Amino acid sequence: MRSEQLAKVRRVVIKLGSRVLTLDNGGLDYDVISGICSEIAVLHKSGLEIILVSSGAVAAGRAALRSSDNSMTIPQKQAAAAVGQPLLMQAYQQASAPFSLLTAQILLTADDLANRKRFLNARTTLESLLASGVLPIINENDSVVVSEIKFGDNDNLSALVTSLAEADLLLILTDIEGLYTANPEKDPEAKFIPLVRSITRDIELMAGGSGSSVGTGGMATKISAARKASRFGVPTILAPGKQPGVVTGILSGKEIGTIFLPAKEGLNRRKHWIAYTLRPSGKLKVDSGAVAALVKKGTSLLPSGITDVEGRFERGNCVRICNSEGVEFARGLTDYTSLEIAQLAGHKSSEIEQVLGYRYGDEVVHRDNLVLI
Ligand code: GLU
Repeated sequence: MRSEQLAKVRRVVIKLGSRVLTLDNGGLDYDVISGICSEIAVLHKSGLEIILVSSGAVAAGRAALRSSDNSMTIPQKQAAAAVGQPLLMQAYQQASAPFSLLTAQILLTADDLANRKRFLNARTTLESLLASGVLPIINENDSVVVSEIKFGDNDNLSALVTSLAEADLLLILTDIEGLYTANPEKDPEAKFIPLVRSITRDIELMAGGSGSSVGTGGMATKISAARKASRFGVPTILAPGKQPGVVTGILSGKEIGTIFLPAKEGLNRRKHWIAYTLRPSGKLKVDSGAVAALVKKGTSLLPSGITDVEGRFERGNCVRICNSEGVEFARGLTDYTSLEIAQLAGHKSSEIEQVLGYRYGDEVVHRDNLVLI
């Protein structure tokens, strides 16, 4: 199963978490960084393209500022990231130099990727770096974003970068062996799961919440990243990052960590971007008939099924589509504004012109712009 998945891998996104990159005292673990760079040099020789998504800026900055306090305010974290990011890059540069490997820093915000033009610009830059044999190292631009507009965690960022770069594999390196049926630190009965065919609710429940105090991600964010990658048709491997030779081992077929298989029906690039990268600006509540039509028949969303509108949005914006309990089950680009939809809700498509005095089309969200979540 693994060898089949790995056979077609040419481009890999490797995500390194803060726990992997730091020592117990909070400073950067130069041995791990140098080990990864030497492994990347080997992989380059075998023709693979690698993109790193690296955490560790806040942790490195915190150690340099000698601020051991875990309850840092957001501005303090942003300042720590500003101090730590160059230290992190310096560590990568020094560790790559012996292999004549050039590194490049790309700092992204969620806004950058939600903007289609900037998304495409970032993609072109990545392509150009990879074509020159450079190692791109991506992190969130922590110093300029506040929590509401953040990617949230680098697990999420790494899944979005997988789609941005159209990579074939997402490798998340963390501080445990992979996925277990329960938290192995607390439950001696916890069993290791080497293979996840599909990310079901049970799998999500096993993941629980965050387990680490230095990074922001826990197992739950890793599962969510794996789901995003899987919907892009890409497998994810979750593996222990401090284990020497882990990356080359995995890519040469060793059974290390947990592999999450790609979804059978992946989303195309544009729909993946609508579903996971764009930020919704409003919410449409729909009735059970519309839920059934969208989910079972893959139809467009018509005004007749809409019962409520929340938020202010324009044509072309991304909206959440929710059932009568308010639970989101789809997302899409709207063809009508929030004000127009408020007037159209419950009406037949044939009445649109009568209600508004004009019409753009029968659908509020066309099926081509609609993705089930
Ligand atoms: N961007 C943060 C950093 O470099 C890490 C976020 C995370 O751990 O997910 O420290």
